[in-house]
Amino acid sequence: MNLRIMLILTLAGAAWAQAPAKQESPAVKEQLDKARALAGTRWAPAFQFFCIAPRANSNDDPPIEPSKIFDNVYLIGNTGTVAYAITTSDGIILLDSLAANQVESVLLPGMRKLGLDPSMVKLVVVAHGHPDHFGGSPYFQDRGAHVAMSKEDWDTIEPRPGAKAKGAAPPKRDIEMKEGQQVGLGGVKITPVLTPGHTPGSMGFIFPVKENGKTYIAGMFGGTMLTTTRPTPEQFDQYLNSIAHFRAEAVKAGVEVEMQNHPLMDDFTGRLAQIREGRTGAANPFIVGRENYPVFLDVMASCLKAQIAVRGQP
Ligand SMILES: [Zn+2]
Repeated sequence: MNLRIMLILTLAGAAWAQAPAKQESPAVKEQLDKARALAGTRWAPAFQFFCIAPRANSNDDPPIEPSKIFDNVYLIGNTGTVAYAITTSDGIILLDSLAANQVESVLLPGMRKLGLDPSMVKLVVVAHGHPDHFGGSPYFQDRGAHVAMSKEDWDTIEPRPGAKAKGAAPPKRDIEMKEGQQVGLGGVKITPVLTPGHTPGSMGFIFPVKENGKTYIAGMFGGTMLTTTRPTPEQFDQYLNSIAHFRAEAVKAGVEVEMQNHPLMDDFTGRLAQIREGRTGAANPFIVGRENYPVFLDVMASCLKAQIAVRGQP
């Protein structure tokens, strides 16, 4: 057991030790025990985040160094929210685009630092219709890139006639993604999976990445509920069904790489440090294996059930 894992376990243990102060009901405790057992050491950070200390992302989350994580995948953002750039023979695909006010300050300088030319962005694929994901896309749309989002979320972000605009302008309706209909560029195909809950048209993505020339299948659950204080019971149900649906599609596709657009729960900074240090012989830490990827989703679902049980407490 390395030091980092020990530290995480200690932190999880500390939070755990405080938790009983809330007087968990047997139903809650059972759910938490189940989630913790599922998580084991590999997904201990996911257990810690989803079950013990969920929090929303923030513009002020600590910055990260723009990083290349696969032969053809780069990430830019902060520890709470990232956009991914996938390079192809026909240009760059962006998965999400950060917030509008992060284009000039974070996204463009980050891309340039990585040697990526922002004018090569031809497609922006948005995971869901919230401004921290689509906000940067109008910049690229104005310069000729296509923007893809689910029809359901295009509907939700469409400015209503006569309504006063609030915040930065959303992108103009462009490609409407549908479950299972691939979008892509230059031979890289992204399969969208509809996962409503966080928004009506949230999507998860399944797509190939390359490591030392070998192709691996990545999964990004793009509409993660980070906190669970607001949803209605119906939204909880819908979201649980969405996790199960994405899990089934991920297993079918053989997903073995775990990536998040809000990477608050997958030892993100630890992974980046590992890549930065170029530890020889170590496998890419984003490659978690086919048997482990679905467990990440199981921990998510299990912790959500614990939250639901907490709500049901007298
Ligand atoms: Zn969101």
